[in-house]
Formats: sequence, C-alpha cells, structure tokens
Amino acid sequence: MSSVTSSLKVTRNYKFRLYPNKEQESQLLRWLETCRWIYNTALAQRKETWERERRTVTRIEQQVWLKEAKKTDEHLREIHSQVAQEVLFRVERAFAAFFRRVKNGETPGYPRFKGRGRYKSITFTQFGEGKGASFQDGKLRLSKIGLVKIKLHREIHGTIKTVIVKRDAAGKWWAVFAVEKELTQSQANNGPAVGLDAGLEKFAALSDGSIIENPRHLRKTEKRLKHAQRNLSRKVKGSRNREKARQKLARLHAKIHNQRRDFLHKQSRRLVETYGLIAVEKLNIKGMVKNHRLAKSISDAGWGEFMAMLEYKAAEAGARLVKVNPSGTSQECSGCGMDVPKELSERTHYCPYCGLILDRDVNAARNILKKALALEAA
Ligand SMILES: [Zn+2]
Repeated sequence: MSSVTSSLKVTRNYKFRLYPNKEQESQLLRWLETCRWIYNTALAQRKETWERERRTVTRIEQQVWLKEAKKTDEHLREIHSQVAQEVLFRVERAFAAFFRRVKNGETPGYPRFKGRGRYKSITFTQFGEGKGASFQDGKLRLSKIGLVKIKLHREIHGTIKTVIVKRDAAGKWWAVFAVEKELTQSQANNGPAVGLDAGLEKFAALSDGSIIENPRHLRKTEKRLKHAQRNLSRKVKGSRNREKARQKLARLHAKIHNQRRDFLHKQSRRLVETYGLIAVEKLNIKGMVKNHRLAKSISDAGWGEFMAMLEYKAAEAGARLVKVNPSGTSQECSGCGMDVPKELSERTHYCPYCGLILDRDVNAARNILKKALALEAA
C-alpha cells in the first residue's frame, strides 16, 4: 500500500447537553418563537411574491426587510442579529430544495409554515471570543443570553464553526457544534483488505466470511417503542396522560437513536483498526429506502450514517475506504466470475459452474473486495 500524505477537511458534529437556568430557558423559548415568526413571515413573502409575480424573493431582499422590521419590533431586537439572519438562510434552503425537486419532475409539498412549538433550534453562525457564542469559564456563552451550563463530556478536536442550540421533544436542551478538522493521512495502516456488504437480516457481511449481526437490544427497545406508540394513540388529546405518554415515546426514540449510534461507532472503529483497506459499495440510500423490502433494515441499520463514520475514522486511522460500483456484485460468482442470477429471497449463493456455496452477502462482499483491488491495481 502506498503511504501518500494527503489532507482533507472534514466537519463533524459534537452534541452536548445544555442546562439553561429558568430565566435563560424562558428567553430561549421566546427566541424560538420569534425565529418561528421570522421563518413564517419570510416564507409568506416568498410564496405571495411567487404567486403574484412569478418571481423569487432573494435572501438579500429579506435581510433588508428584517433590518427594517427590527426598528419597530422589540422581540426582533432582543435576538442576536446573526441568529435572526440565519432563519432567512433556512427559508432559502427550504425553497431551493423545493425547486430542485420540482425540477427533477417530482411533486413536492410547498415548504410548510411552522406551527407553535414546531421551530426547535437556533443557530449561532460564528463561534469564538467576541462572536455570538464562545466558551467562557467552562460554560457556553451565548450573546444576549449569558453563560449557560454545559456538560462537556468529551474533548472537541478541531475548529468550531457554528453552534446550534436546540430543544428536543422531551424538553431537554442541547448544543450541537459543527467542528472542522484537518485530517492528515500520513501513516498507512498496513492491515489486510476486506470487502463489506450491507445485509438484510444481518447488519453486514465481510469477505472473510464473518457476519456483523444487528444488535439484539435494539430490537428489544423497538418493541417497547411500538407499545409506547399504541399507548399514546389511546390517550385523550390535550390530557395530562397523553403528555406523559408523549414524553415516554420521545425518551424511547432518543434511546434507540443512542443505542444505534453506539453500535455504529463501535463497529466502524473496529473495522478501521483491523483492516488497511475497506471496500464498500457506492450506495444510493434514497433509492434503496424506496424499495420497501429493503427499507426497514437499511434505515434501521443507518447504513448512510455508518458510511460517514467509516469515512472519517478510516482517514484518522490511516486505513483506506474504497467505494465500488455495485452493479453485479450480488449476482456474480466470487469464485469463478460467472453470472449466477438469483432472487432477493435466495439467501445462499450456489454456483453451478464451479460449485462454490456461500452466504449470498459474503459472496457479494468478496466481489466488492475484488472490484476494489482491481481499482487499486489500475
Ligand atoms: Zn463459480
């Protein structure tokens, strides 16, 4: 393996729990409501102008409007100006996504107005001393709000670019930092090469024949989640019991999310520490999630999230992640290269030409590895 030195900038998110005091919390809640108002008003401006004049209102125009509106509105003046302006970027992104889908021939819903309590986060677009947000005395300093208690449970490596302050469904507050880091890949990991195929019932199959199973505790929590969902639907709207059931459901969602992330972190770390080259398929996750048979396991397993983790962890560990074209990887025989067509339901690869019998996903993983090695040799 070559030991070229390459550098690459990656952005990672770090999430920490925030503990605003009573006063800070009510201020944050007011800000969220004001941002919601900005969002909805900016959305209405774009919508009306489009319907009336077939013209897109630009973000710059809306910034001018916001500046004017501030003069007569004390709620707007209360908010840090970058936080208010960032809302206009969100509106712009919502519109850009809408028009992109229209262009692709889809019929997307119009960007939606946000109802009370549906606007959940604010963004400080600059971080550091003298900026909208920074660290001070072990706390998170938010301009105009003050020093907010934060639980920094792990060290941040890199440069903090932005921070999002958000409130989850259970009413907890979080700070999400977008951190940019320069990765220098100097030390090549000379471990063996491996191919990896996303599984259906299992999480993944490796070309060496080993299987990574989906964690069982996740399935257990999912069962509890289904129960909690049914429970919520039985409760009377607006009742105290319904609120309790809603909070329980939110806690379970968070638990599943955390369990899954832990699992993905653990597996990706193990792979980059063991192997010098990891071959995977270039996956069109969106295309796969549309296919209902595959949908559950793919979205459950969080394959896209897993790929992202593998990517940055491989770079950090000096391992290489090679993405190959997925065509034919499941049908071809990894032993003799002949085409052996099979249905999705056939879980075993049996080759009538060379007699090879293998788990179908292990066969695919071996083909993925072969393709990657061919790419490397080219
Ligand atoms: Zn064969």
